Amino acid sequence: MAIKRSGDNPKPAPRGEDLLTAAKTPQEEKSADAAEEKIRPQTLADYIGQKDLKEVLGIVIGAAKARQDPIDHLLLYGPPGLGKTTLSLILAKEMGVNCKITAAPALERPRDITGLLLSLQKGDILFIDEIHRLNRLTEELLYPAMEDYRLDITMGKGDSAKIRSLALAKFTLIGATTKVGSLTAPLRDRFGLIQRLRFYDLEELRRIILRSAQILNAAITADGAETIALRSRGTPRVANRLLKRVRDYAQVKGSSEITSELATAALDLYQVDKRGLDWTDRLLLTTLIEQFQGGPAGLEALAAATGEDRKTIEDVYEPYLLQIGYLNRTPRGRIATRAAYLHLGLTAPFLLDELF
Ligand code: ADP
Repeated sequence: MAIKRSGDNPKPAPRGEDLLTAAKTPQEEKSADAAEEKIRPQTLADYIGQKDLKEVLGIVIGAAKARQDPIDHLLLYGPPGLGKTTLSLILAKEMGVNCKITAAPALERPRDITGLLLSLQKGDILFIDEIHRLNRLTEELLYPAMEDYRLDITMGKGDSAKIRSLALAKFTLIGATTKVGSLTAPLRDRFGLIQRLRFYDLEELRRIILRSAQILNAAITADGAETIALRSRGTPRVANRLLKRVRDYAQVKGSSEITSELATAALDLYQVDKRGLDWTDRLLLTTLIEQFQGGPAGLEALAAATGEDRKTIEDVYEPYLLQIGYLNRTPRGRIATRAAYLHLGLTAPFLLDELF
């Protein structure tokens, strides 16, 4: 099932190859969704990596099944594409229940959330993506729903307003967010379990690519998978996207197999560099270095100077640049590190990153 990320801005003018946020036509979106569903792992055993988290969830599932109770409300956080939606679908499958998927920007009016809550059956999972973006009214409706499985609806207005309570089926809310710090305390406190998803290591990404290639019927060598893994910025969604691009390239070039050389040629063509940085990553870093003398620069200033959406920079690009140590976040703003200068072939000013 696809999540409609209705809060996202469309991409500006085309430029370079942008594998993270590229805007698509509705037809492209539909076929991309179908391909994504095909390779999405269906069981916990198929879900590669996130070992600690899988262990925790294995226990949660076992205990809930033994008690014949729904699993506790669960908050999953981490950058996009790491497998939060996939995990929720797997949990539903393992528990033998339905999973309804929505995203906070789609829950504008109170009736959006009440309709969903009333449609849930015992044990069902309600997955809300970008849960930090819920509006206040919707969030307040969720409090009694999560705590007492009760929906409080206000009937009428002013002094004559009355609250009517409706009983809900015992359900599980899974919230996903890229920004756990932006959740209000009352909402965060109502989750029984708060778990973080981590970036994937090379070996895990390699296994994900080999598995996806098999499902897509694309012949690939171990080295070919490793070359793609190296450029996948620790993220399964990116790994799968790169694999599909490389497969297309191989097909057009008449290659029967994805080798390391072929993957390198394809990814160079798509301008995804050796650390997995794409056009926008490099634009962000060069802007920071050339227009802001390496920083510190505020997010707003960086967004204005690059023409990128502030939220996209913060949620999609920054986490990986921070993770690989190309960017530092300080109270005064973002700073390009010595490693970023080196990566771009530039000379870092003396002691720049060491100063902060
Ligand atoms: P998120 O909800 O965190 O943005 P998704 O759950 O939609 O990410 O995952 C993105 C894609 O990456 C999925 O289509 C799935 O095929 C793949 N994926 C995610 N996690 C894993 C994993 N652990 N093993 C294999 N593939 C994965």
